[in-house]
Amino acid sequence: MTSASAIGHSPGAGRPEELVGSDIQVQVASGDLITYAFLDNAASTPAMVAAANAVAELLPWYASIHRGAGLKSRVATVAYEEARSRIARFLSVGQDHVVILTKSATEGLNRLARMFGDHRAIVFTSIMEHHANLLPWRLSGCELRYVQADAYGVLDEEDLRRQLLGTSTARPRIVSIAGVYNVSGYAPPVHHLARMAHENGAEIIVDAAQLVAHRPLAVRGVSADDELDYVVFSGHKVYAPFGSGVLIARRSTVERAQPNIVGGGIVDLVTLDDVVWNSLPDREEAGSPNVLGAVAIGAAMERLEILGRQQLAAEEQSLTSYAMRHLNEVPGLRILGPPDGPDRTGVVSFVLGGLPHGLVAAALSHEYGIGVRSGCFCAHPGVMHLLAEPPAVAQLHLDQMRAHEHCSLPGAVRVSLGIQNSEHDIRRLSTALLALSQDGARCQYEVNQESGEYMPALALPMPTLPLSMGAAANSSSV
Ligand code: PMP
Repeated sequence: MTSASAIGHSPGAGRPEELVGSDIQVQVASGDLITYAFLDNAASTPAMVAAANAVAELLPWYASIHRGAGLKSRVATVAYEEARSRIARFLSVGQDHVVILTKSATEGLNRLARMFGDHRAIVFTSIMEHHANLLPWRLSGCELRYVQADAYGVLDEEDLRRQLLGTSTARPRIVSIAGVYNVSGYAPPVHHLARMAHENGAEIIVDAAQLVAHRPLAVRGVSADDELDYVVFSGHKVYAPFGSGVLIARRSTVERAQPNIVGGGIVDLVTLDDVVWNSLPDREEAGSPNVLGAVAIGAAMERLEILGRQQLAAEEQSLTSYAMRHLNEVPGLRILGPPDGPDRTGVVSFVLGGLPHGLVAAALSHEYGIGVRSGCFCAHPGVMHLLAEPPAVAQLHLDQMRAHEHCSLPGAVRVSLGIQNSEHDIRRLSTALLALSQDGARCQYEVNQESGEYMPALALPMPTLPLSMGAAANSSSV
């Protein structure tokens, strides 16, 4: 396939034309109108033009899918199933696996936790995980064991091996690990870990929420040894923010389990006291599926394929290095996580001297038109580990949270890259951070004690939204 990347793409320029809204102008505190620099892609990526177009094209044909005899229903069904096939192709999913369309990575992990909870599985995970890969296990009946990480949050593989070897094989054992950590951008070697799990009779789940859009991923691996057993991710992190997600699972495991969520569309027959379930994947997609969301993911994946996934990963890698170099030059700025290297993707979290993380993020937005995230990024244990917070302090934070004192929680500022970002965005960011580190924020901010959020004391007007998006919002402040 011809790579569009080869055709006249300048290095470091980003690909803003691929995403909806890259040219949005915002007013900053000085009164100037400037192009918004979106550096919060780990939270949610903007929509790809290709995904938005696919949704718009399907809308006139939109109808509830499966079993509808009407033409619209048949067209929508074909589009939905084609999206599933595209996802399978994009991620090299073999016949032993099934692609189940869900709402999100969170839903996928909760479903897996319920499935393995029924068998009281032992689950090995790292302390760097997103809460979506921690909390479902705790409530599931599984036994959760934590694998050690070094000061950079890098998984201690030997500790995992020791724990796998030292655990009874009488119960199912699962390694559940992020493909990329959402705080540090570190990408654990998931296929290597898969091989280690398999050699020890365990299976692997990869939370690929931060991986799929950033690195090529083949579920199949290079051999049966390093094939991934389960993979989850969300559409809104792969340039398809239309409410769909994906769970790729070993067919045999799902077939053996009771359907996870039940309702319409997943049965062949129901009597008052018996039921014949459908075959997979329908059996795992109760209710009316999100057709448009699935089609958006399929279209985004097709476009990423055309742009060239290796090429996009290389561009992100080079922009990450560029960002780390520039950030490291800001006095007082400390990047969390491992140093720059091939196992780091485009997520860079940092603290800036003694400035509160919420203040830095608010000032970047209000004064410089740069969108980042601050806090603990739904990975509290991981952030506390990277900040080297003593474990005894955890109790203090628990008490503060119970007293609704959110502003006292430590945290970091996170910059995360997408295909639209350019070296120019990074230079804007580092110039802003340099000014913040030297002179502090230019405007006054008020902190909401309950939420910990910093808001400018003199708010700018909200941009004018179309009436259909809520006229009331137009009168409130940014
Ligand atoms: N895992 C990781 C690593 C994430 O970064 C996120 C989202 N921040 C999730 C899981 C959960 O994704 P979602 O909210 O889309 O379910």
